[in-house]
Amino acid sequence: MMHWSLQRQSSWVQLAGHQGNFQLSERGEVLKLYSEGEAKCLDCLMRDPLRPFVPQYHGIITRGEQRYMRLEDLLKGLKRPVIMDCKMGVRTYQEEELVKAQIKATLRSDMYQKMVKIDPAALSEEEHAQRGVTKWRYLQWRDTSTSTSTLGFRIEGIMKAYHSRLVALNDTLMNSQFFGTHEVIGSSLLFVHDHSSSKANVWMIDFGKTTPVYETFKLRHNIPWTEGSREDGYLIGLSSLITSLSQG
Ligand code: ATP
Ligand code: MG
Ligand code: MG
Repeated sequence: MMHWSLQRQSSWVQLAGHQGNFQLSERGEVLKLYSEGEAKCLDCLMRDPLRPFVPQYHGIITRGEQRYMRLEDLLKGLKRPVIMDCKMGVRTYQEEELVKAQIKATLRSDMYQKMVKIDPAALSEEEHAQRGVTKWRYLQWRDTSTSTSTLGFRIEGIMKAYHSRLVALNDTLMNSQFFGTHEVIGSSLLFVHDHSSSKANVWMIDFGKTTPVYETFKLRHNIPWTEGSREDGYLIGLSSLITSLSQG
């Protein structure tokens, strides 16, 4: 899954996610549609050693009927940023989503269409005939057809990144209470690079599917997932990424 963007048309570019989930605010902040889980994560992160690695969170604001989370705009002040959204972990669905999808076996033609576009050969004759697949089938296919399952990360944009920042992030994750106690699913590393100001940085974003685990249940993040373990493989992804960058 690749998302490309080279030039900022407005003062902001968005690589992934639903367009309607974001709004630009006057204060150089990005407004992301409120979700209770993500707001809780961001609150915790503001009191965690990981704070320098995430966009600063300024609380909630109401716009019309909707509530939004006020986030630092990571592209603020950059003229021609080149950015890459790299989704981390060995799976991008929550265990709960998979269970729900297993129970509800309705055929989804939208998911069939997405699969046909990318890899028609992955579909069975039966799936082609019914022009639909279950969500369960789609979720598993999406992660195995990309590098999510094998490398523990998948690139959603352009490669331009910095090794030392990722090594520092790796060290900080080891000391983070937040990381030890959260299952991090569908979160990305956002690589931001700007030629005109020679600035480059990497940020952790998108905690929409990040959920706490019980205090006693510390996650390791560096072992493969088995159903029920809640392991996300975040560190598998990070070390593959660090290795690929040092080879590049
Ligand atoms: P999905 O779950 O489909 O990945 P989402 O709706 O949860 O998407 P995010 O992944 O949080 O949204 O963000 C989507 C895109 O918006 C990112 O890839 C990035 O390009 C941009 N973006 C998000 N947060 C910021 C920020 N604080 N500053 C600048 N750009 C951002
Ligand atoms: Mg995202
Ligand atoms: Mg998300």
